[in-house]
Amino acid sequence: MRTAQRVALLSSLFLIAGWTSCGSGTRGEPPVVPQFDTARAFQFLLDQVAFGVRAPGTPGHDQAEAYLFGKLQETARQAIKQEFSATTSFGGPYDFANLIGLYGPAAGGKKLMLCAHWDTRPAADQDPDPNRRDQAILGANDGGSGVAVLLEMAQAFKQSPPKIPVIVAFWDAEDSGNSSGPAPYSGYLLGSQYFVKHMPAEATPDEVILLDMVGGDSLPNTRVGTRPGGNNTFDLPIERNSNAAAPELVDEVYSAARKLGNTAFKQQPGYSVIDDHMPFINAGIPAIDLIEFDYPEWHTTDDTADHCDQDSLRQVGETLLQVVYARN
Ligand SMILES: [Zn+2]
Repeated sequence: MRTAQRVALLSSLFLIAGWTSCGSGTRGEPPVVPQFDTARAFQFLLDQVAFGVRAPGTPGHDQAEAYLFGKLQETARQAIKQEFSATTSFGGPYDFANLIGLYGPAAGGKKLMLCAHWDTRPAADQDPDPNRRDQAILGANDGGSGVAVLLEMAQAFKQSPPKIPVIVAFWDAEDSGNSSGPAPYSGYLLGSQYFVKHMPAEATPDEVILLDMVGGDSLPNTRVGTRPGGNNTFDLPIERNSNAAAPELVDEVYSAARKLGNTAFKQQPGYSVIDDHMPFINAGIPAIDLIEFDYPEWHTTDDTADHCDQDSLRQVGETLLQVVYARN
């Protein structure tokens, strides 16, 4: 993900709302929510890291693209590869691909998109060691974690198809911008911007939930320290652009987390982050971002699997399965 800024606390914006699920199972029974297989989700993270860096133009990028598209083809009723090429702040032109899977019915109810970026950043420019800042990051968390949660959810969707249309999307070219990159997002978010300009009718969402950096652990890392204003604990405060654009969707997700006791979801204002939800918000589509922006290893060479935690994936995956299967 890209960048953030602290703004004044406006706690009145964050009234705690009640449980707002759109319904339950037949005859008022609670919905049957599939199990989230946490170990398999973590394996999906390790599988991606095993390809090495997935930065544009690298062999790992090609291998991950084939792997991820194969997973969507195995699980979805329809898989779509949306290819494009672009020059980034780091070079190119490179070949890119957004990868999309369609689950549940084709119509009936709002189409809910769940998405994450799958590319990794070509430079560890936040590394405390200047000699490492030209190295690409492995992106176990920044790139790998959101995709891992969604790959495991796709397994659940195949096993027990949801009653509402669900779109799973993996964005390419999210993390190749820099502070002097071109407007509107400094060269970041290329895949999601391309998608919003070229949305296939069958994959056009009514609402969007983005996952980014949802796999961090809660252990100190003395080499990198903590992010300014941050801590070592995995938590997901409410991202501010999300709350401004889609407060009801925020409430639905955080209420589901609260119901399940998934305490990483902090019902308090977090950062304001420019991420792949912004092209949707700016196109008038409600979108939210679940993100731990103060992940201490963010954009360093320590964004590796040993600084991730299976339980973080579990909390996010269980919560989102609850959201999906409570809708019908
Ligand atoms: Zn990033």
